[in-house]
Amino acid sequence: MDNDLWVFVAILLALTATVLPTIAFFHRCRACGSLAHGFKSDKLANFRTGEAFFVCRRCGDRTVKGKVESDGSVAWLSGGTGHFDESGHYTGDAGGVFGDGGADGGGGGGGDGGA
Ligand SMILES: [Zn+2]
Repeated sequence: MDNDLWVFVAILLALTATVLPTIAFFHRCRACGSLAHGFKSDKLANFRTGEAFFVCRRCGDRTVKGKVESDGSVAWLSGGTGHFDESGHYTGDAGGVFGDGGADGGGGGGGDGGA
């Protein structure tokens, strides 16, 4: 029985070791190539243009990653949603793919209107 557990753990680790670099590769910073970009990028909103950005912590490159509404709610192109406060500071994910741990997890995403 114990052996089964270790096999499971080994498979899990192998999957993680395979998937994470793949994700990192596809979401690397287009400007400086930072592989941490997909995991540790800052988020920024421009309410004037309605664009939400990921900002590379290494080189500062901005990539449009979502649409922000005037009330601060953002819909990420990658599928998640979140919220910015009035100053453009990101306050949390509501099920985003790239939550970097800053999200408080509360609040729920609200209805997404289906479709
Ligand atoms: Zn960069």
